[in-house]
Amino acid sequence: MTDWIAAARAVGSDVAARHAEDVDRQARFPKESLAALKERKLLGILIPERDGGPGAGIADVVSVCHVLGQYCAATAMIYAMHQIQVSCIVRHGGDSSWHRAFAKRLVDEQLLLASATSEAGVGGDVRSSVCAVEEKGGRFSLAKQATVISYGADSDGILVTARRTPQSPASDQVIVVVPKSGASLEALQGWDTLGMRGTCSNGYHLKAEGEMAQVIPKSYADVSAQTMLPTSHLVWSALWLGIATDAVARARAFVRAEARKKPGVMPPGAVRLAEATSQLQLMKSNVVAALRRYEAALGSEDSLSALPFAIAMNSLKTASSQMAVQIVGQALLVAGLAAYRNDTPFSLGRHLRDAHSAALMVNNDRILANTAQLVLALRDDPELLA
Ligand SMILES: Cc1cc2nc3c(=O)[nH]c(=O)nc-3n(C[C@H](O)[C@H](O)[C@H](O)COP(=O)(O)OP(=O)(O)OC[C@H]3O[C@@H](n4cnc5c(N)ncnc54)[C@H](O)[C@@H]3O)c2cc1C
Repeated sequence: MTDWIAAARAVGSDVAARHAEDVDRQARFPKESLAALKERKLLGILIPERDGGPGAGIADVVSVCHVLGQYCAATAMIYAMHQIQVSCIVRHGGDSSWHRAFAKRLVDEQLLLASATSEAGVGGDVRSSVCAVEEKGGRFSLAKQATVISYGADSDGILVTARRTPQSPASDQVIVVVPKSGASLEALQGWDTLGMRGTCSNGYHLKAEGEMAQVIPKSYADVSAQTMLPTSHLVWSALWLGIATDAVARARAFVRAEARKKPGVMPPGAVRLAEATSQLQLMKSNVVAALRRYEAALGSEDSLSALPFAIAMNSLKTASSQMAVQIVGQALLVAGLAAYRNDTPFSLGRHLRDAHSAALMVNNDRILANTAQLVLALRDDPELLA
């Protein structure tokens, strides 16, 4: 069995880390890392054996995101967003011959998939669409003012949410798999941001057309609740954990260097380093517990649609997005100016800027408002080990 984590570690340390500063400075696509991920066949790992893939599980993907996040958060985020799209196809494409053939192509050609859920007019409310699928003679067309499509220009295909028909209400959505050959992208706005600069999340006017068979058969409401939302929150949290892990590693290296300068004297940052390490452990436990919960629920649509599951997955996202910033902040205090400067081995500016995107990436306030409604409908909390 292939060791995906070792492969990711090699890509991270040998390639992603080397280019991370330049990717960030120039806000450019991390082409070297993505080429290395493709070379090691890491893009198609979720595709089942029946469609020519190795059939890895979500735990493998989560682990790869965690590893990549330690070297280049933009690379990790691109990999994570790609795998969210792949999991939607794998879990909801069903026996559709179009989706199975596309999955096979994805493995063979190591296709990179992007996502167009955000849209002008609905803000970050991904459960509403303005654009609609227009059908004619078994074919469709759609046009979307997509405010953000990460690495849209460098992707090989895009999963697009839209209303089921032009008559459907905003929340009656489907998700359509659009290979790049069936899409045109007209640039609307650039991506000169605080962090996650290498994701190149430009806005586009997206036009797509193709066969109706490209529409994923299940409603987007189910795809979102059962797969897109939990997978997103897991893979994002894993890579944010990766950012925090590297920040603590840099702080530890700083304290070690200080300790070597004055043997026998505990460096002042050591206590705060211990505190950051304990927070990191808490964040890691939260990610692993949520992962195990998702794996346990995977076989049952009822479990995946249950209130406590949705609350747990939302809470994972809001908690890890905040913890990542807190832990990087702690590490910054430990290493002080050496971390604040952009030109030392202990620099943490990029980590902090990248981590700040976490709370906005589907705004925490929006998720908390949704969780609040679910929490009010919840009866008792389950037992500790239930
Ligand atoms: C690095 C990165 C990559 C991304 N990549 C993609 C991508 O590839 N494809 C894609 O489709 N999208 C992508 N997005 C967009 C993302 O998923 C969100 O849609 C987007 O960040 C939301 O933007 P917003 O904050 O302007 O909008 P909103 O979520 O509308 O928030 C705007 C403001 O309204 C407030 N607000 C809104 N609703 C509520 C509510 N219900 N309760 C309380 N407050 C509320 C918020 O506090 C916020 O201040 C990406 C975002 C980031 C940061």
